Amino acid sequence: MRKQIVAGNWKMNKTVQESTQLADEIVSNVKDLSLNNTRVIIAPTFVNLSEVIKVTESSIVEVAAQNMHQAKSGAYTGEISAEMLTSLGLKTVILGHSERREYFGETDAILAEKVDAALANDLEVIFCFGEVLEDRKAGNHFNVVESQIKNGLFHLEATAWKNIVLAYEPVWAIGTGETASPEQAQEMHAFIRKIVADKYNQEVADNVSILYGGSVNPGNAKEIFSKQDVDGGLIGGAALKADSFISLVKSF
Ligand code: PGA
Repeated sequence: MRKQIVAGNWKMNKTVQESTQLADEIVSNVKDLSLNNTRVIIAPTFVNLSEVIKVTESSIVEVAAQNMHQAKSGAYTGEISAEMLTSLGLKTVILGHSERREYFGETDAILAEKVDAALANDLEVIFCFGEVLEDRKAGNHFNVVESQIKNGLFHLEATAWKNIVLAYEPVWAIGTGETASPEQAQEMHAFIRKIVADKYNQEVADNVSILYGGSVNPGNAKEIFSKQDVDGGLIGGAALKADSFISLVKSF
């Protein structure tokens, strides 16, 4: 049975001191929760991964990276490889966030390579995708999402999907305070599960966790997470404070 996941994407926020402090607060708060089927993941920036890993080591809180380069190693100044992440003990990487696609030119083709590099190194991938506002207004959102998933992931064998988590993040809802309604989220998540079932089989589709992201906060999480095909959230702004993040973890 698929897991519920609350993942905090800290983006380019927090110094090492602030990161360890937040991680520490999250660790102490989740200690007393009985989270049988819920995973809690935090994704600090690269330079703060090591210290945050130390703080979370003996807790259920997992640490993920926000990105990585597709090459094994070499002359790619400023970049980080999959092997560097696994050598820290990391097990998960976020790929394809809309900010990476928009500001750093990450295309579907590049993302497919990144997915392969991550999986080849036994990293789990939280694969993000979602339509921009114009696509939704034009009624194109299903096509856009289908092509992002197809181009980024449908070259994979069915067995590889045990290391894939999907994150539907409509770009118009990220950091804007405007969320997709629970019904809009459910409609898209059901569509996503169906295209995965059509491409592979029902078992692969039923086992993949599909997260929603875009202005999730303690006020709206419960209703969004209660939808049948919504298995949790990828959280930006509301993940930067322990109390709001913990309240999201309790929102199932
Ligand atoms: P937000 O960001 O929660 O601040 O909208 C979500 C994300 O970008 O993952």
